[in-house]
Amino acid sequence: MPARSRKPAGPRRIRSLTLRRRRWRVRWVRGLAGDDGKPLLGLCEHAKSVISLEADQTPRVLLDTILHEVLHASFPLATERNVRIATPEILAALARVGFRLVPRGSQP
Ligand SMILES: [Zn+2]
Repeated sequence: MPARSRKPAGPRRIRSLTLRRRRWRVRWVRGLAGDDGKPLLGLCEHAKSVISLEADQTPRVLLDTILHEVLHASFPLATERNVRIATPEILAALARVGFRLVPRGSQP
């Protein structure tokens, strides 16, 4: 029987990320919304070096969201369209090679 972990299963709620030598603050927000009030899964704010993530999303959706926001943070000139195209392409390529990303605690 595997030892019980004291930490909860699931993705780590990291507080910061360093991307291209720039430190970003990571916020986990329940009910994240844009300026227009529309719900968002993620938001990358270059001026503040802040990535906000909806706290209440499944690990699988969170994987997409983090990749999407990291692309925005890393390539500020990339358009929303470019990021939306690249995100599933990268995930599909990884899956094709055989990578399967699962959150902590979901496998023995
Ligand atoms: Zn975007």
